[in-house]
Amino acid sequence: MTGTMENDKNTAGNGSDANDGAGEERKLDFVRQIVADDLQTDKWGGRVVTRFPPEPNGYLHIGHAKSICLNFGIAAEFGGRCHLRFDDTNPAKEEQEYVDSITEDVRWLGWDWGEHLYFGSDYFDKMYEYAVQLIEQGKAYVCDLTAEQTREYRGTLTEPGKDSPYRDRSVEENLDLFERMRKGEFPDGSRTLRAKIDTAHANLNMRDPVMYRIVHAEHHRTGDKWCIYPMYDWAHGLEDSVEEITHSICTLEFENHRPLYDWFLDELGAYHPQQIEFARLNLTYTVMSKRKLLKLVQDGLVSGWDDPRMPTISGLRRRGFSPAAIRNFCQRIGVNKFNSTVDIALLEHCLREDLNKTSPRVMAVLNPIKVIIDNYPEGQSEELDAINNPEDPSAGTRKVPFSRELYIERDDFMEDPPRKFFRLAPGREVRLRYAYFVTCTDVVKDDNGEIVELHCTYDPATRGGDAPDGRRVKATLHWVSAQHAAQAEVRLYDNLFTKENPDDVEEGQDFTVNLNPNSLEVRTNCFVEPSLCEAKPLDRFQFERLGYFCVDRDSSAEKPVMNRTVGLRDTWAKIQKGQKKR
Ligand code: ATP
Ligand code: MG
Repeated sequence: MTGTMENDKNTAGNGSDANDGAGEERKLDFVRQIVADDLQTDKWGGRVVTRFPPEPNGYLHIGHAKSICLNFGIAAEFGGRCHLRFDDTNPAKEEQEYVDSITEDVRWLGWDWGEHLYFGSDYFDKMYEYAVQLIEQGKAYVCDLTAEQTREYRGTLTEPGKDSPYRDRSVEENLDLFERMRKGEFPDGSRTLRAKIDTAHANLNMRDPVMYRIVHAEHHRTGDKWCIYPMYDWAHGLEDSVEEITHSICTLEFENHRPLYDWFLDELGAYHPQQIEFARLNLTYTVMSKRKLLKLVQDGLVSGWDDPRMPTISGLRRRGFSPAAIRNFCQRIGVNKFNSTVDIALLEHCLREDLNKTSPRVMAVLNPIKVIIDNYPEGQSEELDAINNPEDPSAGTRKVPFSRELYIERDDFMEDPPRKFFRLAPGREVRLRYAYFVTCTDVVKDDNGEIVELHCTYDPATRGGDAPDGRRVKATLHWVSAQHAAQAEVRLYDNLFTKENPDDVEEGQDFTVNLNPNSLEVRTNCFVEPSLCEAKPLDRFQFERLGYFCVDRDSSAEKPVMNRTVGLRDTWAKIQKGQKKR
């Protein structure tokens, strides 16, 4: 099974958006339209072969998810296949840890490459042969300019470059020098192999680009076999060619590299995929460059690649995102040719939409104050029925323990309430969810005037939360039984950056000045329903009235640790309404 979805509850990206609810057929995006047209004209003999080609130099992020859902999605929808290929041509920055995390993340997102797992480094021999072929054709030469000189000779956008003094070496000399480069006779950076195209070309990428450089470095897969490594622009097109990719889908910044890929493949007479460029994903309050994410990790500004504030797939997973939420988001944003920035509120909207359907409800108190029910018999307790998910009747009910001493949210009580505060106050009756009506009779304070406990009475006739006499209350509060509840640590997250565009900085500063000092708040004195002690890492819940939470990997039965995934309030609907009015 290749290019297909596992656990496919919400099919990603076939162009008809189930989330819009309107039921109308949506137009295919421009990439899918090209694939559909090619099938129509039989351009590729009925084949659809795409690939996702990460460089294993960091963890995947939500931007990569867009590319993954596009490539694997197209393969699944058009009966083709999608390769997972590691573009591992730079030994200095690449590691097995990254390879492992990337495969885990693509699989977690719900995609399957079947047997089509490839490594660019597996083609090093083939690339070398192709390079020799170009030398023999008089289309490549060994150049002795230093990196700095090469840059100087290259010219600028407005000035043409200059020919290298080594440009006219004979084929024999080039073949000899290139072989000796491979054998390790020359030090790092002393020579390169360059394509012989046109040093005055209007497109800088065409000005005799470097194909190979000398780097005496261990590669995580090929060890010390090679001391020359292919440059990205030389390697990338060849990898697509060797695998006979039909549609080589990449981001816009590669548009002006396409003529170079075309040149290489045409000169070699090699198989030639079609390259299609689309706009990369940018998100507000988020940095997406791997270099910047690596800096956050290395400088200890976050706890690691999977810090729940990171936009990495592993961070989002630990935060409590579901694969379906991410896939739905990628489908919603669509694919186009113009760079833009997506509001993070849309990502959160897609998340809530999925979690609302799938998360069991539980009660938890994050900022507790004790409540004593004076007329409830001491030592007694009972179990009340609570609904697991009102959006999903098949989720059933559970038992929640109730007893004389409870915790409620400190914010749900006010001694001196203003007119619009309807929750608990002295003399006022409210409903405890699934339990009873209670009335506050007394407030106990410490020497500093801080409230330490509340006393209430309950009405036994209201068991389950309804008064037989039809009497009403204006508020329903969540609660936990003090004796039964588990004490938990809850981690509350906010955006990692304070600015919509974290790269908006003064001269001389870098993006880290925009880090949000309040992006993590740890509460250690929270209380949760005892059922949560059995939950496993990554299990997701809705804490009633508070938001969606997920069990962290630091959690244990003795000490549950929960991450707040996202609050309940959806800001996206509001933003959208505002946009429609304009
Ligand atoms: P770097 O930031 O180091 O240049 P990259 O983010 O481009 O790297 P790659 O490993 O080369 O990382 O990316 C793999 C694939 O994911 C590429 O095909 C790339 O086009 C795509 N991709 C990367 N970032 C985004 C993004 N923000 N939106 C959509 N696709 C992306
Ligand atoms: Mg890249």
